[in-house]
Amino acid sequence: MHRQRVCVLGSTGSIGVNTLDVLSRHPERYEVVALSAMSRVDDLLAQCLQWKPLFAVMPGQEPAARLRERLREAGCRTQVLDGADKLADIAAHPDVDTVMAAIVGAAGLAPAIAAARAGKRLLLANKEAIVVGGALFMQAVAEGGATLLPIDSEHSAIFQCLPEDRATWHDRIDHIVLTASGGPFRSRDPATLADVTPDQACAHPNWVMGRKISVDSATMMNKALEVIEARWLFNLAPEQIRVLIHPQSIIHSMVVCRDQSVLAQLGTPDMRVPIAYGLSFPERITSGASRLDLMTTPSLSFEEADATRFPGLHLSWQALRAPEGSTTVLNAANEVAVDAFLQGRLRFDRIHAVNSQCLADVQPGDCSSIEALLALDAQARSAAQRRVQAWI
Ligand code: NAD
Ligand code: MG
Repeated sequence: MHRQRVCVLGSTGSIGVNTLDVLSRHPERYEVVALSAMSRVDDLLAQCLQWKPLFAVMPGQEPAARLRERLREAGCRTQVLDGADKLADIAAHPDVDTVMAAIVGAAGLAPAIAAARAGKRLLLANKEAIVVGGALFMQAVAEGGATLLPIDSEHSAIFQCLPEDRATWHDRIDHIVLTASGGPFRSRDPATLADVTPDQACAHPNWVMGRKISVDSATMMNKALEVIEARWLFNLAPEQIRVLIHPQSIIHSMVVCRDQSVLAQLGTPDMRVPIAYGLSFPERITSGASRLDLMTTPSLSFEEADATRFPGLHLSWQALRAPEGSTTVLNAANEVAVDAFLQGRLRFDRIHAVNSQCLADVQPGDCSSIEALLALDAQARSAAQRRVQAWI
């Protein structure tokens, strides 16, 4: 059996690093053939020296040139490619079997769709890609014959609760329950959310993650994106998707079947579990995660998400019921608003204002190609920038 040849897009990020950790435990099963990063030349250099991939992709010419030079000095023969279009080329490359899509944001759309069209095993962490891509994304998976495996812990949990034969899912599921930790502000007085700093928003109680998803967890826009992600991954109606706050992050999500039997997946909060499952499905391999000990686990509790504290959550159902492309608009607005917040240009409690205003400002049109979706994404980003400016 030849080793699975893996491409990790976004290899210097939180998911990328966790993926390489799982891969390093199974050298007999996997080999790394391509890595990519946006800006951290030192980190990507160290990864290239360790893994000696065929390719390393950096979208920017300047960091790519620095990486090329440093690799040459070190005598490493990894070929460095620059240009954002190279991410899609590598994702569809014939020497790649498996693509870990772990870029953050809509920037990962084109490479994820390229991997889908090329029929790869596609491990999807980059939820924004499926939120932006919607029907087009799922069509690319079907037409390309790709194996799409969710890496988001909630969606991996749902997937692990379902049989392998997708054709049976529709008749089996009554609804699903996505669990949410509630983030760092679950019990903070909503009146004080205006003063939140980026570092406070990024201090997640249970998970260490990139800054964008950490802010999304604090606003619960992360869960909103996950509702949209679940709609596409499991082909559900918006009303079949529910959200429940579960602060301990032990139950990673649940499927409620037609007969009211409830299936849940449990474990310590460690992204290496869904990553290992994506890599090895339908088998199981060791992940490095620690064992769940229910005797020492604090009792499991649940609560409804408070709409005053987390107004953004409901935008997911609103966008799903609105014309196609509305989820693309919502995602773009949120990326702009979160970025402005992280740069200290927008108050935390105004992220939601920008998102809901932008949904009203932009009327989506054609969604039938990547180009059309990226044009809509760009239009929504401009509208969101104007809304951000108006709040300053
Ligand atoms: P991160 O910020 O830690 O890493 C992002 C990676 O993408 C980095 O390698 C960065 O260099 C690269 N990147 C950023 N912008 C890029 C661009 N424009 N073009 C090409 N590459 C770019 O983020 P993360 O926490 O690892 O999250 C990655 C994705 O996985 C996100 O979509 C996130 O929602 C999802 N996810 C993350 C977690 C988690 O635990 N971190 C859990 C579930 C889902
Ligand atoms: Mg998640």
